This record gives sequence, C-alpha cells and structure tokens, in this order.
Amino acid sequence: MKAEPMLRSLSGKVAVITGSTSGIGLGIARSLAAAGAQVALNGFGAPDEIERIRAGIAAEFGVRTGYAAADMMQPAAIERMMAETLREFGRIDILVNNAGIQHVAPLEEFPVEKWDAIVAINLSSAFHTTRLALKAMRRHGFGRIINVASAHGLVASPFKSAYVAAKHGIVGLTKVAALEAAESGITCNAICPGYVYTPLVEAQIDGQARAHGISRDQVIRDVLLAQQPNKRFATVEEIGALTVFLAGDAAASITGVALPVDGGWTAH
Ligand code: NAD
Repeated sequence: MKAEPMLRSLSGKVAVITGSTSGIGLGIARSLAAAGAQVALNGFGAPDEIERIRAGIAAEFGVRTGYAAADMMQPAAIERMMAETLREFGRIDILVNNAGIQHVAPLEEFPVEKWDAIVAINLSSAFHTTRLALKAMRRHGFGRIINVASAHGLVASPFKSAYVAAKHGIVGLTKVAALEAAESGITCNAICPGYVYTPLVEAQIDGQARAHGISRDQVIRDVLLAQQPNKRFATVEEIGALTVFLAGDAAASITGVALPVDGGWTAH
C-alpha cells in the first residue's frame, strides 16, 4: 500500500543513506521513502538480496530508488558514488552518514587495522560524503546532513577506543559542518542512539546468554541495556522518524546538535 500523499513531506527530495542495506540505515531509508523521498542506497550484502530491498522500497512507497556498492573505506569509491547519484537523480538534498562497524578489545591489544577501518568507515567517510554533498546542496540553497553517531559520541565505554573516538569525532564534524553551512539553508545534526534493536544486536543475545549462563531476558536487561535506564531497545522506526523530522522544514533551525536517543543513558 502506498503512503498517503499528505504524509509525503519529503516528496521531490533525494536522499543518500550510507550503510542502508541493513539495520538502522535500512530503517532510515524506508522512513525517508515513506515520506516521499527518492533514496539512493549503499552498503554490503548479497546482490540479489540488495536488489530485492531496492525494488521492494520502490514498489512499496512509489519512489525512485538506486544503489551504489561503494566501500566507505575508499575515498575514490565515495567520490564515484556521489557523482553517480548526482548524475542519476540530478540533486542531493538529504545525506545520512550511517555506515559503521564495531570492534571490542582493550587498547593495548586493539588491532591497528581495526582502528584504521573504524576511523575510515565511521568517521572519514562522512567527511568525504559531506564535502561532496555540500557543493550540490548549496546550489539549491537546501540541505540536510544527518550523521548517525551514537551515545558513544557523547560518553565512553571501555574496550571501544576506535568506535568511541570515531563517534566523538563525527559529533565534532557535525558542529563544524553546521557552522560552515548555516547561512545556506543547510543543517547538519547527529543522532546519538543507545542500543537499537537490529540484526547485529539480535545476533549477540544468544551468544551472551550462553557465555554468561543467563537467559535472553537477563542478557537484554543486565548486559546489553545495563547503561540504558528505560531498559528497552530503541527501534529503527524511531530513528527513521527522527531522521524524517530533521530532514523536514520544521527542523530548519535545528543545526549542530547531537541528539541522544538512548532511553536516558547519557543523562547519567
Ligand atoms: P548493521 O551492521 O546492521 O548495518 C551497518 C551497515 O553499514 C550495513 O548496511 C553494512 O553493509 C554497512 N557497511 C559496513 N561497512 C561498510 C563499508 N565499508 N562500506 C559501505 N557500507 C558498509 O549496523 P546498525 O546497528 O544498523 O548500525 C548502523 C549505524 O548505527 C552505525 O554507524 C552504528 O555505529 C550506529 N549505531 C548503532 C547502534 C545499535 O545499537 N545498533 C547504536 C548506536 C549507533
């Protein structure tokens, strides 16, 4: 069923969402499409599964969709993705920097190649997409850059040095982009989720239950959500709805913020 026209506040807008073949990025792409935006997808996965996702969003929401396989570790691939999107769609109005990976290890043992990969994917890729998108957005005097950071962009946890450093970094980049673009109708904000229920999180629950010898419910409450006072996962739909809001006209004066969606985690 197609969304009601009155809800399609982003009709005519073109959105690029990095890391949108799974989890939060896919949820954001679906929410933007439901609001009428054309969406350019990116991320890894089996080609037939990605094509099923792309065609499915197009059919479900009646919007134009595209896909670029660009590896967010590769600046040249990012440049090609942004150029191809501009060629195919004619404009870029909304950029969501979402692609991200995690690795957990003590600092002294943290693999150097994991540090480099996390900084490249979780932080530097957003610098590259942003520098290229800003040019295109300035031409139309409108733009929305939305960075999916993390509660770990605001506070730290042990054993996540690269992730925490990259997420704090993207919060800083968000503020700089907001200031530089402030007079051009372009906003830049970061969303800082706590734990969000995605396939990545689901995959950890049974393993943690076995490792700790406790139930799934105990893992969720006492391990995963130990820091999250409301003891519930945020959903990808909640993150998607916030993204749609930040992309819309009502959020024109919201820029340079890092907005926690963490059930109170960073209120500690
Ligand atoms: P996910 O693993 O489900 O999705 C990650 C996406 O990024 C996938 O589409 C994957 O293909 C893509 N990706 C990974 N490496 C890539 C690369 N080199 N080039 C291009 N695409 C690449 O994870 P998720 O839980 O949906 O996380 C998405 C974002 O949200 C990440 O930035 C993550 O740090 C952030 N986040 C997640 C949570 C959570 O609880 N799930 C909490 C806070 C922040």
